[in-house]
Amino acid sequence: MAASNSFIVAGGGIGGLAAALVLARQGHAVQVLEQGDAFGEIGAGIQLGPNVFRLFEHLGLTEAIRQVAYFPPNLVMRDVRSGELVVRAPVGEQTLATYGQPYGVIYRVDLHRVLLDACRALPSISLQVKSKVTGFAQRENGVEVQLVGDRRLSGAALVGADGLWSRVREAIVGDGKPRVSGHIAYRAVLPMRDVPPHLYSPDVTLWGGEKTHLVHYPLRRGELFNLVAVFHSDRYEEGWNTFGDPDELHQRFAQAAPPVKELLARIETWKMWVLCDREPVPNWSQSCVTLLGDAAHPMLQYLAQGACMAIEDAVTLGAALHRCPHDIAEAFRVYQKARYLRTGRVQLTARFYGEIYHASGVMRELRNRMFQSGREAAGFIGTHWLYRGIDPERPLDD
Ligand SMILES: Cc1cc2nc3c(=O)[nH]c(=O)nc-3n(C[C@H](O)[C@H](O)[C@H](O)COP(=O)(O)OP(=O)(O)OC[C@H]3O[C@@H](n4cnc5c(N)ncnc54)[C@H](O)[C@@H]3O)c2cc1C
Repeated sequence: MAASNSFIVAGGGIGGLAAALVLARQGHAVQVLEQGDAFGEIGAGIQLGPNVFRLFEHLGLTEAIRQVAYFPPNLVMRDVRSGELVVRAPVGEQTLATYGQPYGVIYRVDLHRVLLDACRALPSISLQVKSKVTGFAQRENGVEVQLVGDRRLSGAALVGADGLWSRVREAIVGDGKPRVSGHIAYRAVLPMRDVPPHLYSPDVTLWGGEKTHLVHYPLRRGELFNLVAVFHSDRYEEGWNTFGDPDELHQRFAQAAPPVKELLARIETWKMWVLCDREPVPNWSQSCVTLLGDAAHPMLQYLAQGACMAIEDAVTLGAALHRCPHDIAEAFRVYQKARYLRTGRVQLTARFYGEIYHASGVMRELRNRMFQSGREAAGFIGTHWLYRGIDPERPLDD
């Protein structure tokens, strides 16, 4: 068994790499253990609120992100059946003026690559693939981590950034399987040349309707076009990155306006996700083991913030370790105390947004009226607390 004083991070996704970067920049040695054969992400787009751009600046990643991101002028909502405009919220100049940071979208692969390149530039980070964490044991001076193939590693502390189905969480929170929401997402990315001009929009556009919605936006400087179709179904219990059934999708969107049906018809191969979350918990640390990102607070994607929250976690974790340099267990308590209410609020608000997007009947009428009054659009229905973000210099005091 290798002895080490390094931090061990389980999981090399967006959260794990962000944590490794922050810890290494503070002078810690870090071992990132990724179960996959390579460090990489599954292709699809994600949205990035101004709150995370503030942290990119803090981490010195702004330029690298800007080179691959796309910056939409508006967030737009339309009724999926009638095509009627429900709301248009400008997120270009207005977001910059309000938050000092932009609203962007990015290919997950590109965001992951920016973080990976930054990690690779630091010799104190060791990136290890084919290293699935199967368990761990607390020791007097740290933690011993068990890996597949009967490998063991010891370190000063373990950060479980191992996603929705986290092994580390199982051991320290023990709240069973994630909650299956009954919502399914189909995702696809098209080269922009395959999108006919009459179906193109430069905005992040959401077509909302009863138990369904479609989101689309350009990606990677506008070279690609991202589509996410979501519908309710209790047919699936588990699934991540498997192939979707286009017939089921077309059935679910049978009543949709023509541009939506035309867009859906342009895609032959969809990747499918069964969307899950968990109830928020106040405690996800135990001695020198803690959680980060989806392992700590998995959320539905309706606020488009899961990856943003993982990066906020990483910066806050760094600040907590800086404050308590000689007591990792205390630092982990300080970190989670600074995070659980904010991330819990995002988890719960994301569920509510799902209801709003998929509204029917009176709720749909109310939603349209509220948004169309113009007052709600300006602040994009009360997201100021979220987009204002955390202060990267003082994330523990926010
Ligand atoms: C449809 C959809 C749309 C989304 N849209 C957005 C959006 O617009 N904006 C946004 O910010 N977020 C969005 N998200 C959420 C975002 O993708 C996640 O919150 C984010 O990827 C979480 O990162 P993570 O590193 O915590 O977990 P993950 O990305 O799940 O990474 C976990 C890593 O750990 C590895 N791993 C797992 N178990 C082990 C183990 N036992 N040992 C070693 N390694 C292990 C995995 O292979 C993986 O590499 C969306 C999610 C979905 C499903």
